[in-house]
Amino acid sequence: MNKWKRIEVELQGLQEQHLYREIRVIESSQRAHIRYRNRDMLMLASNSYLDFCDEERIKEYASQVLAEYGTGSGGSRLTTGTTVCHIQLEETLARFKGRESALVFNTGFAANGGILPALCRAGDIIYSDELNHASIIDGCRQSRAETVVYRHNDMKDLERKIREHSGQPGLIISDGVFSMDGDIVDLPGLVELADTYGLLSMIDEAHATGVIGAAGRGCEEHFHMEGRTDILMGTLSKAIGSEGGYVCGSRTLTEYLKNRARSYIFSTSLSPVTMAAAKRALELIEEEPWRVRRLQENIRWFCRVLQENGIDVCSETAIIPIRIGEEEKAMQVSEVLMEQGFFIPAIRYPTVKKGEAMLRAALMATHTKEELAAAAEAIAAAIGQESNSELRKE
Ligand SMILES: *Cc1c(COP(=O)(O)O)cnc(C)c1O
Repeated sequence: MNKWKRIEVELQGLQEQHLYREIRVIESSQRAHIRYRNRDMLMLASNSYLDFCDEERIKEYASQVLAEYGTGSGGSRLTTGTTVCHIQLEETLARFKGRESALVFNTGFAANGGILPALCRAGDIIYSDELNHASIIDGCRQSRAETVVYRHNDMKDLERKIREHSGQPGLIISDGVFSMDGDIVDLPGLVELADTYGLLSMIDEAHATGVIGAAGRGCEEHFHMEGRTDILMGTLSKAIGSEGGYVCGSRTLTEYLKNRARSYIFSTSLSPVTMAAAKRALELIEEEPWRVRRLQENIRWFCRVLQENGIDVCSETAIIPIRIGEEEKAMQVSEVLMEQGFFIPAIRYPTVKKGEAMLRAALMATHTKEELAAAAEAIAAAIGQESNSELRKE
């Protein structure tokens, strides 16, 4: 009897549907120009929006901390794994987000998986946007609350669903910037509903921090609603260029999570050097506001040159979705672009719905206008070429 039969059949099925995932190995640091397949390529897919993974002053500071504090943390946050570097980062984060207090988790994934089950329990309702990140979906499942999924960014649908459960305690959770479509939550609508119906409001700022808001402080700054959300979580692994997740809010919130969030309590904390890199990155965002401004200029410029090349896109965030449809075609277009030195992956089911495959370009503050214009032309040409070759096939 082959114990692996079921799994092998499933893998084969994924291959047949062009859904089989392969790992791409990068041969350099993460930056605007990477080494891949033994050549130089323009990176248009990284979450390192401010190009902080390989930034001189961050590396310099992190090297000092590495020399002084070593490589590992040696324990969980509540035992021996909290160094001054962890505390300094939390203080910097709280200040950056204009909150009383902040708490660092090991990843954004672990933050959602810790916060939601700690705050919500059986008898509660979690209202969750249908396009929320997988870590939110898992966090909802791990809590024993009932999850009510509302239509994407649709505040009318959300209110209808809240009324259906009126009187029950709960929490509304949404991505701040949606990780595949790059659109922004209706924060004014969400906060108003939360306040009207006595629910907690929680925003996941993974792709918002360092990207939107005049100074890159995220959704609240974007909407001029500083201090209005109850719970702001996010990650240090995207624009911040390091690793770790975080939550910002009241001291009551962070004290409670220290005592109740299992992913915070039962996991070895991140290394001091990781914390130091994140702290220095947050300081750089404040010291050098041109970085966030350049990123925002690049977003406007790239959308414009794509539109000039006949591609219908519109985004206010560093995530630029270019719709393709069929999984196989998206893969082929991406491969053509890779061959030309543009690293732009295809995104497909199960990350997005079946038949809604797309190219997902992600911008950096350090991309030049010329590079982005060249990429836009190449994308338009590759999509055109693919359509023509399909016509020839028929
Ligand atoms: C990436 C992401 C996370 C997970 O953060 P990690 O630090 O990578 O684990 C959570 N939520 C959203 C919306 C994300 O995009």
